[in-house]
Amino acid sequence: MAGLKGIQLISDFELQGQVVFLRLDLNVPLDKGTITDETRITASLPTIKYALEKGAKLIVASHLGRPKSADDKKYSMEPVAKRLGELLNVEVILIEEPGSDAVKHNLMGLKSNQLILLENLRFNAGETENADAFAQELATGVQIYINDAFGASHRAHASIDALPRLIPKKGIGFLIEKEVKMLDKLLDAPEKPYLAILGGAKVSDKMGVIENLIDKVDAFIIGGAMAYTFLKARGLPVGKSLVETDKLSYAREMLARVEARNKTILLPVDHVCVPSFDSDDALTTPDVAIPEDRMALDIGPQSIRNFETAIAAAKTVFWNGPMGVFERPAFSRGTFAVAGALARNTGFRIVGGGDSAAAAEASGFADKMTHISTGGGASLEYLQGDKLPGLEVLRQRKLSEKNPVQIQ
Ligand code: AMP
Repeated sequence: MAGLKGIQLISDFELQGQVVFLRLDLNVPLDKGTITDETRITASLPTIKYALEKGAKLIVASHLGRPKSADDKKYSMEPVAKRLGELLNVEVILIEEPGSDAVKHNLMGLKSNQLILLENLRFNAGETENADAFAQELATGVQIYINDAFGASHRAHASIDALPRLIPKKGIGFLIEKEVKMLDKLLDAPEKPYLAILGGAKVSDKMGVIENLIDKVDAFIIGGAMAYTFLKARGLPVGKSLVETDKLSYAREMLARVEARNKTILLPVDHVCVPSFDSDDALTTPDVAIPEDRMALDIGPQSIRNFETAIAAAKTVFWNGPMGVFERPAFSRGTFAVAGALARNTGFRIVGGGDSAAAAEASGFADKMTHISTGGGASLEYLQGDKLPGLEVLRQRKLSEKNPVQIQ
């Protein structure tokens, strides 16, 4: 496991008077221009504050949503610029064109209480295409490149990959440092018993993590829609619940492999089910069988008790994916109970990003976890053993700022 080997940290550089390009993940959810969850902004503040305190001239950049073009103004960084300014008490200068005279001009006179924020990187198609031409524009005047966008580091996009290739002085910020150290603890000698709780919509999204964790964990809990593929693989009736038919043989094989290793796999033993997805006519089944004309949208009370007992006994827990359709109150009980059980556990508890982070937040227990990752896809890819392009491009053989020798 390479971890952070060969990667420099922002604190390894002399920042005074230097133009620093800081790639952040400020991809916050917006509702009609209002930020509905600012976790990613607050998670980025320590690195920004550090750079400003050390006298850097900051160019901050991020993507936001999936705009079709630069005219897709609902994805403008404007609300982020405003909120960043408030939280940092600095003037945030929002500039549309990277590499433009506006950037050069503002950099020249940039004061210690100002920073430049570039407009949404994805307004330029070159970003997702990892285009050299766009990277060249981003690199204009930049002396040091810092990536602190953990949630975007699994994507080889221009600001993550092509840009740092152009800049010899490069490293990571404090958020990536923390994220990687936390995830490394799950891979490297985790305290036992080690429990992985997997849920959410699809088995296919979690197969890589199951594979990589199968020899490390002592037990799996499988909930959410994923569970019905496993229950069906065991020959149990799942009614109209979501099943990935093409993953049935994988589920069967995985159950056999877990059992052959004397490990535990806990599946729901009862369910909250409805006649159709939009219905709230909920019925709790007395046992594991789901009636033919119903689909399960949450785990039932006995499953909750079983899962709570397993969570209470664990010393290390990784949780990714809700136990049910937690966005609807009638089907949130299982997910919130898991969050509550995690909150009561005093071991090492990591929540993967995305929906699990949202679920932990909605449960009211978010601040009780050891760490909630800001990157859903990135944390899963890291745990399944994939190399993240945003980290690989920063690895250097020799850790000297004056004479960085690159492997590329
Ligand atoms: P994922 O992104 O794979 O973590 O999936 C999260 C989504 O799975 C959430 O939006 C949940 O509403 C959904 N989900 C969880 N359990 C079920 C279920 N039993 N049936 C349908 N969707 C579910």
